[in-house]
Amino acid sequence: MSADPGIVIIGASLAGAKAAQALRLDHGYDGPITLVGDEPHLPYQRSALSKGYLLGTTGPADLDVLKPQFYADQDITLALGAPATALDLDARRVRLADCTEFPFTQVLIATGARPRRLRVPGADLDGVRYLRNRDDSEHLAAALRAAGNVVVIGAGWLGSELAAASRTFGNHTTVIDPLPTPVYYVLGDRIGGLIARRHRDHGVNLLLGDGVEAILGTRSVEAVQTITGRTIPANLVIVGVGATPNTELAQAAGLCVDGGILTDGHLRTSHPVAVAAGDVARHHHPRYLNPVRIEHWDNAVIHGTAAAATLLGKPTTIDHVPYFFSTQYGSTLEYLGLPTTWDRIITRGEQTTPGFTAIWLDRGIPVAALTIDNRGAADHLRTLIATAHPVDPQQLADPDTPLLDLLPTRRAVPCEAISYGRPRRPNPGQGSASTTHAPRPANA
Ligand SMILES: Cc1cc2nc3c(=O)[nH]c(=O)nc-3n(C[C@H](O)[C@H](O)[C@H](O)COP(=O)(O)OP(=O)(O)OC[C@H]3O[C@@H](n4cnc5c(N)ncnc54)[C@H](O)[C@@H]3O)c2cc1C
Repeated sequence: MSADPGIVIIGASLAGAKAAQALRLDHGYDGPITLVGDEPHLPYQRSALSKGYLLGTTGPADLDVLKPQFYADQDITLALGAPATALDLDARRVRLADCTEFPFTQVLIATGARPRRLRVPGADLDGVRYLRNRDDSEHLAAALRAAGNVVVIGAGWLGSELAAASRTFGNHTTVIDPLPTPVYYVLGDRIGGLIARRHRDHGVNLLLGDGVEAILGTRSVEAVQTITGRTIPANLVIVGVGATPNTELAQAAGLCVDGGILTDGHLRTSHPVAVAAGDVARHHHPRYLNPVRIEHWDNAVIHGTAAAATLLGKPTTIDHVPYFFSTQYGSTLEYLGLPTTWDRIITRGEQTTPGFTAIWLDRGIPVAALTIDNRGAADHLRTLIATAHPVDPQQLADPDTPLLDLLPTRRAVPCEAISYGRPRRPNPGQGSASTTHAPRPANA
């Protein structure tokens, strides 16, 4: 063991654990690694918390990012159950709430995000819940089992999954959102309207273009009053109105923060010993004009791996096409790209049948895509978007034309665009973390 105090990773979750794994397995780094986490659990997958774990079809062991013995096998020190409360980058020390201190040579900040709070009268009543961590999911599952009348506030990806879960538990379910369609900023009204139809087909009372005026009740929730004057009975309210990055520690340490910890394209922050990764990082991305902060499972995995390389002075380029998956009413939705400008949407396949795909075009160039139950297509769509080449809309609309036939011929495609075939399932605790395009977790 060297006298080097090594690398401290703050945030023992997906990005942090993947960074630790890549440091050891991809790069053979043999210095000390300390993984600091405020939650008592080993790093786990959050994506299942609104899906299989909430519904009881995924067990706790399936949530593990890495096999529990990985940390001991790889000599990774775990400091769990106490948050880091002070970070001194010049002195290179981090202090935890329990007064433990760890020196470091470099630090990775992967503190993630937390739910944005609803600020309306009654928001602190019993029965108003948020979902971010494993304990939230367990309590929410118990509440959903006993609820009866559920109101979900927010019709984004999370709100949509929560509505689907609530219906699976047999609850009368209302979703309230001020925007015209679910996931509006990402999908727009046409494809968002399709998501709306799916909710309504599954018995959800979808109140769009309306907001929450107040949550009513004496001690616990009894109803939700909307801005347009509706009163919706509820004994459980679930809030899914977005997330706020956990930047306070970084900001107090003097790092540049603006809607996330600002980093360059290699996740380097404004201080030479600090790197940031995952939901908390707002990084330069060569595909986009402004720095992006991406709250996706895939992004956290890619960031963890890239952060390890940067920490070891071997920075890699992060220019992936953002990828998100969601499970609703037994269907898998996959979305690639970032909300950006588009002037046309091409669809392939029937909206109600598996295999449906929508592709957003900007001046003929594919910039984003959504598939429903068409898992094999994501890699091809990623290639199409990464290539950033205009395609023939008529051919694109023809489901019998293979997507890769639309690529320009006799022209090199960017390395990032090379397809790796069907996404592989993760093998926690094993193998390399260097997959360019992370497979989504099998347990979602
Ligand atoms: C319910 C839910 C469902 C999701 N579903 C999907 C999905 O279907 N598809 C998808 O692509 N993505 C999904 N996501 C997003 C995905 O899970 C996140 O993008 C991913 O977890 C980000 O990983 P991270 O390691 O950056 O941050 P996090 O997972 O948020 O981990 C950060 C960790 O740092 C800890 N921490 C914070 N401050 C401190 C401190 N001061 N000291 C010590 N520890 C600290 C936090 O408690 C947390 O444990 C979902 C997220 C949630 C919450």
